[in-house]
Amino acid sequence: MTTTKWVIDAVKLGELRGVPAELVYLEDRSRRTVSMPLVMFVLRSGKRTVIVDTGGPADEEQIRSMIPFGYAVREPERIENALDRLGVDPSEVSLVVNTHLHWDHCSNNDVFPNAEVLVQQAELDFAAAPDTAHHQAYGIQDGRVPPFARCSDRIRALDGPSEITAGLGVVPLPGHSPGSQGVRVDTGDGTFVITGDCVDTFDNWDNRGAATPLPSGRFTDLPAFRASLARLKGTGWTPLPSHDHAVVEKGAFGY
Ligand SMILES: [Zn+2]
Repeated sequence: MTTTKWVIDAVKLGELRGVPAELVYLEDRSRRTVSMPLVMFVLRSGKRTVIVDTGGPADEEQIRSMIPFGYAVREPERIENALDRLGVDPSEVSLVVNTHLHWDHCSNNDVFPNAEVLVQQAELDFAAAPDTAHHQAYGIQDGRVPPFARCSDRIRALDGPSEITAGLGVVPLPGHSPGSQGVRVDTGDGTFVITGDCVDTFDNWDNRGAATPLPSGRFTDLPAFRASLARLKGTGWTPLPSHDHAVVEKGAFGY
């Protein structure tokens, strides 16, 4: 039996600046601020390309109207330029997976006109009518179509764990948001998991040597968040956090 192996490229699509550390590290009282890259993952196996998360819009004005942080997208970090550099034709991408529907993970879904978009049903249900405290995270603003709703006709809802295709699967990781999911990727260099915001950074994952990783300060269900982290830790898979500079600096995984 042959096993399908994938390779992963992690691409930076701009960064948030001046983010209060308490949003990234639960109960961080230091009052420091951090910068966070927005990351798109490009998975390839043979001729097949799958995209996991599509970052935020390059429209910095729109972002600034939505969030109180700094935001910057350098020219090479615009999604069209990033895909071009990797030799990916967006019209040939047949599948996009969103770890969840916060604006910084799905705003460029419409760059892939022929792709089916996989999202957990629990995330769609929550995004449709979140508490106002979560409107900013979902990019919900009066008079605008929120980013997650732009490609709603191409979304396929998943209900729980699922094998997407050979060597690729999703696992529910609720807590940061109700329908957060991780993407398991089998590569020639072991099994990776794209964590979404269940794990923002390697510092969350390491948690100074504690048995369980540290949740972020942004969540809908903290006990569920901790349970998801414990489950993830138990898999033995190598995590690829969603907002860590080291991920985009290394860039290539599973080769
Ligand atoms: Zn998020």
